[in-house]
Amino acid sequence: MAKYRLPRGMRYSTLAERKQFYTEEFSLEKVAKWLELLRGKVKFAVIMGRHTKIYPEKYRKDAGTTIIIDEYKGLDEVRDQIIEFLPEAAYYDRNVYDENDRKTGQELAFDLDPENITCPIHGSLADKMERHQGLGFCKLELEMVKEQTIRLYEHLEAQFSSMKIVYSGRGFHIHVFDPEAYALSTKKRRQIAQRVKAKGFRIDEWVTAGSMRLIRLPYSLHGLVSRVVVPVEKGELERFDPIHDKRCIPKFLSK
Ligand SMILES: [Zn+2]
Repeated sequence: MAKYRLPRGMRYSTLAERKQFYTEEFSLEKVAKWLELLRGKVKFAVIMGRHTKIYPEKYRKDAGTTIIIDEYKGLDEVRDQIIEFLPEAAYYDRNVYDENDRKTGQELAFDLDPENITCPIHGSLADKMERHQGLGFCKLELEMVKEQTIRLYEHLEAQFSSMKIVYSGRGFHIHVFDPEAYALSTKKRRQIAQRVKAKGFRIDEWVTAGSMRLIRLPYSLHGLVSRVVVPVEKGELERFDPIHDKRCIPKFLSK
């Protein structure tokens, strides 16, 4: 039974559904294309059942742990490990490492989630937390977070030229691929996050400042809402509706 209030049509995925998705539907070609935007070898991560409490029984002890996948020869091996864990969430590490595994930079990102939106019906994040709905959201919040993403993208265009928007399953991410963005210091990242917040954008400061370095892997399954994480072009965002858009509805829900 789902703990969080979600828009109609969104719900937790079962283990069997996760397995079907990662076996039949998860596109390594599309993932590979996304990874071309990144630099160097990528580390992946999964969480099996931190929020949904749905996980393979044999991994009960590690159900809430972030498991790093950094030993693999090719993406098919990454997929094999994902199928072994059947996670509610899959991520990649935005840090860039050199051949000695030292961090040399980090992809800049902005994370906009519906719970941070103050909803005319459901109130602020504090109100939602009080009702234990910290990860719950409604259609209106989803629409409002989309509007914020469009405005934030336009705001960032003054400073950056290579950006992508990803529908993250609940809200949206803006990824920045400009070379100078990779090289930003922690202090500069914190300043950017604070400036953006001061302008009224409800971003997750930890993601932009860099202390939360994992970000949801495009084309993976968001197991809390049963939606596929997909890049969305800026021009189509206005019309984009993740409740009905075919690109983000997994096969197990589309019949
Ligand atoms: Zn609401």
